[in-house]
Amino acid sequence: MVVQTIVDELRKRPGYGDVIPVIDPVSEEQIAEFTDGGAKAIDEAVARAREAFDAGVWQGKAPGERAKVLWRVGDLIEARAADLAALDSANTGMPLDQAEAIMGTAAELFRYYAGWCTKLNGIAHDIQMTGGIAQMFSNMHGYTLKEPYPVVGLIYPWNGPVFNWAVKLAPALAAGCSCVVKAPEETPMSAVLLHKILDEAGVPEGVANLVQGYGHTAGKALTEHPGVDKIAFTGSTEVGKQIVAAAAGNLKRVSLELGGKSPVLIYEDADIDTAVLMAAMGIFIHSGQGCICGSRIFVQRSVYDRVVEGIAGVANGLQLGGPKEEGVHVGPLISEKQLKRVMGFVEEGKKDGVEVVTGGHRLDRRGYFVHPTVVTDVDPAMSLYQREIFGPVVAMMPFDDDDEVIALANNSDYGLAATAWTSNVERAHNLAKRLQAGTVTLNCQMVFDQSMPFGGYKQSGWGHEFGREGIETYLQTKSVYTKI
Ligand code: NAD
Repeated sequence: MVVQTIVDELRKRPGYGDVIPVIDPVSEEQIAEFTDGGAKAIDEAVARAREAFDAGVWQGKAPGERAKVLWRVGDLIEARAADLAALDSANTGMPLDQAEAIMGTAAELFRYYAGWCTKLNGIAHDIQMTGGIAQMFSNMHGYTLKEPYPVVGLIYPWNGPVFNWAVKLAPALAAGCSCVVKAPEETPMSAVLLHKILDEAGVPEGVANLVQGYGHTAGKALTEHPGVDKIAFTGSTEVGKQIVAAAAGNLKRVSLELGGKSPVLIYEDADIDTAVLMAAMGIFIHSGQGCICGSRIFVQRSVYDRVVEGIAGVANGLQLGGPKEEGVHVGPLISEKQLKRVMGFVEEGKKDGVEVVTGGHRLDRRGYFVHPTVVTDVDPAMSLYQREIFGPVVAMMPFDDDDEVIALANNSDYGLAATAWTSNVERAHNLAKRLQAGTVTLNCQMVFDQSMPFGGYKQSGWGHEFGREGIETYLQTKSVYTKI
């Protein structure tokens, strides 16, 4: 029901460019269409956002009032969780229960950042200047103000539409910014309902402006726009580099959450059964379309065969299918483009001489389904080892000691996340120091908490989301001196 309503609304939304089809990755059929907003819709949205900021309708509100509105957004997301999950599930093909679970996290993000609205304070200093003319000001007071970037552009990908939207909107709105949001072209549906929820919760008009369109049209116009003060981007490292170049015109601030090629280290002294299950789910869940998916697994040699067999066993036991099918664990890849990309890496790996232990093929049915794939005999020079595939493909390698596995794990341009499974506490914490990643998980995997900063080392990003850092990224600091 809600899907049809949003499909109708999407068609009616004003746009100025091409008509963009929305494809169901399970049936490969078009389920909706909308018109690209392009540069014109971005211009209009930026003007509305600036006007709202200058009028002080949101940033001028008492922080406690902003907090109440954001708390209501969280409540409304929870109340509409089934509808939002239906939209994301129809758009991405992910199982409905998994989509529903994400809604609780999105609601919690709004409540978490609602709490920050009243705690955005700077620092204070007593200052005594000495010598010469400065003596006139011997008794001074200094303090800092935390002020929102007026107009921020928020761009996010399709792999968890509601969650990716909430990760940006919750802190940006808590900070007091006016926002222009560019939703992903593959998954435009849930954003329409989310922006209705913002209205209903009391976010004033002009503060959160949704534009739908392609990256190379609307997204590019937003990043280049001279009226935008900051871009917060989540997506691929390749596009992240384009964002940095496009932002140079007015030196807008940029924060980036980019790709990963996260290593998982499994030692012989680990709880092997748990490690096998979590490492397998850590790559195959959501068909490998998660930024922190552990796509390289290194296993101590004495347990290597057992772990390879175990992970292949989990891969073979997973039921793939669409949200309307029974007993499904994993959905499809998002698009034909992604399917071709993933299969391209697998075919290249085969030519390079990897052994495909299981998978390595698309399912013989409709939909962009790839059998969860385990490959061995991998070499660090191979693209399958180095490049982010963003699909259900894991490369496995044996190792003998700490130095060897650290060198292997850190042999990557990426540095988003890393995991180690070992019962040796001393080793675990030493690994945490030596692994070049913004997040390290020890004897656990795919974990997250909104109070813990998340960001990439190396080419996995600039800056952080979540936690205090997640709101600081939307604030600028002003120093004030006063004679007393
Ligand atoms: P993508 O970079 O192709 O697109 C992401 C967003 O950017 C989309 O909304 C797209 O329309 C827009 N875009 C594309 N070209 C643009 C341009 N020139 N200017 C402005 N905007 C543009 O990424 P994707 O394939 O949609 O998503 C998958 C990627 O996202 C993976 O690399 C994954 O690792 C990454 N990701 C990272 C995180 C994180 O927190 N680090 C989280 C989720 C996904």
